[in-house]
Amino acid sequence: MTDLLTSSTTPSASTVAQERRVVTAVPGPKSQELHQRRLAVVPPGVSSALPVYIERAHGAIIVDVDGNQFIDLGAGIGVTTIGHTNDAVVEAATRQLRDFTHTLFTVTPYESYVRVAELLAQHTPGDHAKRTVLVNSGAEAVENGVKIARKHTGRNGIAVLEHAYHGRTNLTMAMNFKAAPYSTGFGPFAGDVYRAPSSYPFHDGLSGADAAVNTISYLEKTVGAADLACLVVEPIQGEGGFMVPADGYLPALQEWCTANGIVFIADEIQSGMGRTGKYWASEHLGLVPDMILSAKGIAGGLPLAGVTGRAEIMDSAQPGGLGGTFGGNPVSAAAAIAVFEQIESNDLLAEGVRIGNTLTTALLELQEKYPVIGDVRGIGAMIAIELVQPGTRDPNPAAVAALASHAAQNGVLVLTAGTYGNVLRFLPSLAISDELLLEAVGVLDEGFAGL
Ligand SMILES: *Cc1c(COP(=O)(O)O)cnc(C)c1O
Repeated sequence: MTDLLTSSTTPSASTVAQERRVVTAVPGPKSQELHQRRLAVVPPGVSSALPVYIERAHGAIIVDVDGNQFIDLGAGIGVTTIGHTNDAVVEAATRQLRDFTHTLFTVTPYESYVRVAELLAQHTPGDHAKRTVLVNSGAEAVENGVKIARKHTGRNGIAVLEHAYHGRTNLTMAMNFKAAPYSTGFGPFAGDVYRAPSSYPFHDGLSGADAAVNTISYLEKTVGAADLACLVVEPIQGEGGFMVPADGYLPALQEWCTANGIVFIADEIQSGMGRTGKYWASEHLGLVPDMILSAKGIAGGLPLAGVTGRAEIMDSAQPGGLGGTFGGNPVSAAAAIAVFEQIESNDLLAEGVRIGNTLTTALLELQEKYPVIGDVRGIGAMIAIELVQPGTRDPNPAAVAALASHAAQNGVLVLTAGTYGNVLRFLPSLAISDELLLEAVGVLDEGFAGL
């Protein structure tokens, strides 16, 4: 009772026990009631994978309004990478909220924006001079990356890869591989986007070198290197299904880009910020991108995104050409600084490696038992399984839907992915324990047994 005076009337998020607990049907009655209210005022274009309404969250557990506790293997699509309501992030953001919430960096600047840019320069591959622009969302980072690459090169063409996902704005819709649901009916789309074949080892069986020849010769034939401003790649594709490209594939593409004056942009919005056990998936693949795009995991859940690139490229945009009202918001920037500090002081990159080992081992064991699991892939805390019609490589989206539903009913939140909707992806926070991970895989095991 000693802290009675300082404690608030509602339990603090950090009191959330790190355990799974299902006390109602999922979604429960309160969630269902909220869902009815939502349907009256929110359009169906904004859909929810699991319409349980969340009351609070901490670490690797989210709690819904009915009191159900879910093991969160999605982390808001790889956003709360260092755990929900990380105490240091909450503290830093709260402090900043009290100091000031906004001035607009392009009107009167503040230190935290500069500090985030320093941290990104320090922790991205390559020791060349770098600059960072902060914006609000992943799609906005992609838009700005392309803008700057065009200004720098004086060229228009944008090359992207099959199975890519880059966002929901007009330009990024044109850069996505999958039309439904992201762009169906939303045209006309931006032009000068060229989509090349990628490396998808489970399906194409190609070496990195051979896949790179396909990509490069496609781009040389359909647009020509001299007209390309940039090539935008996800080092590990996110929405596409966590494809880790064959060895040497992306380095070969980068080499070709460099030889031809094409800006090589790594969209690390999903794969970055410690997710894979290194700050950037590029580091696993031997890449030193000209530009790295970050967002999702960078600010512990607060909206922030960055474009970090070679100084000589970034400096080509004219004063006033970059920015935006909320870009680099001071509360988000304070949270991002705390995220970097937490990663460093708690060696969270090692947690990514641990999670990758635990999850991969457990999922490979499941694959031995269930031939519906065609492939287990990914790096660190970015792992997926691709479900197939047993004995083939044909997609099995029905099994993915059944598994995701079984998991939800049993207090485990998993996300789906894949161009063919046949991938279950795991993006747990780096705060999750092996016990919770294995408990969640146990729930999946029951789900596979019941297919
Ligand atoms: C989520 C995502 C984006 C878009 O980010 P938003 O913040 O949703 O605009 C772009 N690229 C990749 C790889 C992503 O995962």
